Parts: sequence; C-alpha cells; structure tokens
Amino acid sequence: MDFSSISAAHEALLNGDVTAVELTEYYLQKAEKEDRYNAFLEVFRESALATAAGVDEKVKNGSAGKLAGAIIAIKDNICYAGHKVSAASQILDNFESLFTATSVQRLLDEDAIIIGRLNCDEFAMGSSGENSSLGVTKNPINEALVPGGSSSGSAAAVAAGFCMATLGSDTGGSIRQPASFCGIVGMKPTYGRISRYGLIAFASSFDQIGPLARNVEDAELLFNTMAGKDVMDSTSSSKPLNTQTSISGKKLRFAYMKEVMESPGLKPEVKAAFESKLEKLRSEGHEVNAFSFPYLDHMVPCYYVLTTAEASSNLGRYDGVHYGKRSERSEDIPSTYINSRTDGFGPEVKRRIMLGTFVLSTGYYDAYYAKGQKVRQLIKKATDEVLTENDFIISPTTPHPAFEIGEKANDPIALYLEDIFTAQANLSGNPAISVPLAETSEGLPFGIQLTGRSFEEADLFEASRML
Ligand code: GLN
Repeated sequence: MDFSSISAAHEALLNGDVTAVELTEYYLQKAEKEDRYNAFLEVFRESALATAAGVDEKVKNGSAGKLAGAIIAIKDNICYAGHKVSAASQILDNFESLFTATSVQRLLDEDAIIIGRLNCDEFAMGSSGENSSLGVTKNPINEALVPGGSSSGSAAAVAAGFCMATLGSDTGGSIRQPASFCGIVGMKPTYGRISRYGLIAFASSFDQIGPLARNVEDAELLFNTMAGKDVMDSTSSSKPLNTQTSISGKKLRFAYMKEVMESPGLKPEVKAAFESKLEKLRSEGHEVNAFSFPYLDHMVPCYYVLTTAEASSNLGRYDGVHYGKRSERSEDIPSTYINSRTDGFGPEVKRRIMLGTFVLSTGYYDAYYAKGQKVRQLIKKATDEVLTENDFIISPTTPHPAFEIGEKANDPIALYLEDIFTAQANLSGNPAISVPLAETSEGLPFGIQLTGRSFEEADLFEASRML
C-alpha cells in the first residue's frame, strides 16, 4: 500500500490493483494505531470512508479526478465543513467548521480523501509544536526531538507515513522548518497564489497554505490543484497559474547570502553540507554568486513586529460570544471577554496579542508598526533585486537540525530566531521550498531552501527536483 508517489497510487487505483476504500482503511489504521507522536488531533474515519466509496464509484465509471488515490490530512487551522477545527487552541474547543476552505475544496473536487486534522502550535504561533494546547508533537525520526513548527503534525504525519501528504500553513517558516526537521519536502507558495479562505488567520499579509510531501512531484501536484484565483479571498491573485517550467536542462544562477554563512547559530555540519552542495552546483556548470544583504538581522524583529500587530487584530474576534468557548465566570460583557480570553488562549498567544497591541498603540505606532512596514518594503525590494540577477536564492532552511523537546521552551527569543532564514520569503511574498539536503552524524535530517521569483513556482519545483 506504500506507493512511492501520489501518481503511483492513482495509477494503481485506475488499474484496479487497489480500491480507494482499501487505501483509506490502510492509512486510517496507521493514523489510529501508530500515532505515538501526537500528530493527529482527530481522524475523520467516517467521512473519509464515505468519500472513498464515492471515489471507487467514480473510478468504475471513468470519472475519477486526478487526485483519486491521494490520502491527505490537514493542519488544524484549515476549515473542512462539518469537521472540528481548533487551531490547537482551547478557545476553539469543540468548534465546528461551517464551510470548507477553498484549498481543501479544490483537493476534494479532484477526489482527494481527507483523513484527519493535525496538531500544530496554537494559532500557528511557534517553531516547535510545543505551543499546542493539545500536547506536544514528537519527531518520528527521534521522539526526544521536536518536529518543528508550527505545522508540527503536518510534518510528523508525512514523515511517519500516516498519509501521503498534508497541508500546512506558513507565515514565517511553518511549513519549511518542520519539513527540514522531519526530512521531507515543504513548500510555501507566492503570497496570493493559494486562497486563504477557510484558513484561520494569524497574520493575514503573511499567511499562505502549502503542501508537505515525501517528494517534490507530490508537492507540485497538490500545489497546482489548489492554486488560482478565488472570489472568496480578495488577496488571491488573478494571474493565471503557470505550470510550465522554462529552466529544464539550463544552467542556473544561484545566489547565497554572505551573512547567512557568517551567522553565529549556523551549525558547522549544516554549513559544510551546504557549502559542498554549492560546490557541486558549480561543478555542474551553474553559477553560484554571493551577495550581501544588510537586513538579515532585521528580518526576525521586523517579522515579529508586523505579525504580532496583525495577530492582535485577527484574534480580537475570539471574545467568548461569537466563536468557541465562553468562560463559566461570565457575568457581564467585560467579564465574558476577559475571562474567556484569559482561559482560552495559551501563554504564547497572549504574549503576541500584547506585543501586537503595544506596537499598534497610539504613541508607539510610528516607532514600531509603521517602521516595520518600511523595513518590510526594503527587504522586499532588495529580495527582488537579487532575483533579477539570479534565478534563485539558496540557503540552509534552518541553522541546525531538530532540537530537544523542552530545550527552548522557556526562551521565546531563541524560538523566534528559528525563523532567521525562512521569514524573508514571507516578508517579501516570494515562493520558497525546503527539500532534504543531508543528515548529521547523528542521523538527523536538515533541508536546503530555494526562494524563487513570485508566481514562478513551476521553476521552483523544477530546480528543487534537480537539487
Ligand atoms: N515560527 C514563526 C512564528 O512563530 C512562524 C510561524 C508560522 O509560519 N506560522 O511566528
């Protein structure tokens, strides 16, 4: 049942070697019985099997979609009508989606089967999976380690073989960093390429949904199915989806940031593997250029000023009245708001709401939020400049492989620094992907990241395949 790719499973299904119900049952059992990593928050047994039976009917009459045979699970911040969604937060305990995210709907329209929802950091705020209110997710490669975050369950479920691919969301690295830590592929599309309708908002001008998969081909298949304009998300782009790459067989220009190589946190083994990859690219005839980027140290502060500001606004809706849980100590309007939010949000979410409210407040707005916006523009401009002279920016995805559960749990700044290499693509809006690069001497995987030109995902996938 372990097909090497979604298209292999699809073919087996069309050939009658396997049925959708058999495939679904196989993965459901794994997710139900073998998940000692706390990757799944819930398995959608009933609806998955019902969908599978429908897919088998379609296979019989020759009308099956191109994802028939794909067994997928979704991060717990993406809506699927009639199923619970909580963003791993107590404030949304027992909340049920009233509609289906466009990204999920497009997968379903092509006959993918959604088998469950996956653990994550609360409201996608975190880099380790430890901020979930529903327990930590463990890394299937070594259970003492974090799987990365915030799409912790999305990465762990793929790495453990509980489904073929998953959806995650990436605001500052939440798809790519866990993909790196779990030895899989994770891709963040260009901002606006995939609809955010039905994604629980964290920082709306940064958030993107994207795939986590075992290989580039599967990630590309899911991406192509989900991408494109959606009238329900006014920030989704109406640019036609380009699925044709123009770079096959060509010599490419890769650019790496000098400051990344000098970064104090960069682990020597990661640096060495990255450098030897650059050498290999040179030996294959590609151009590898160094560039200087004076903003590397400003990326994380800029990201945390702007995203906390957006989060403080987005999370204002959780008031104990409109959504989710209401505190039992509610006597009047103020006590309903205060107690519901006090009880419902975890410490990291509260920290960010306070930080975001602070940077937006009168007297501080110009010094922090408005300044952050300007820095973001500078970063975007500088990124675009590098990508006019080069085809891709190349870097390690993270400075180090997965760390121990608990190691950084009491040090928010250390966790914020996890985003040092990934936040750039969210600040600038460019598409970026992490593919496995190598393993440390202890057998821990880490990834290499490519950032491409906006809306040129086809080239990004092609270059990733080559890498
Ligand atoms: N680690 C980052 C944060 O905590 C990224 C989160 C994300 O991409 N959702 O904000």
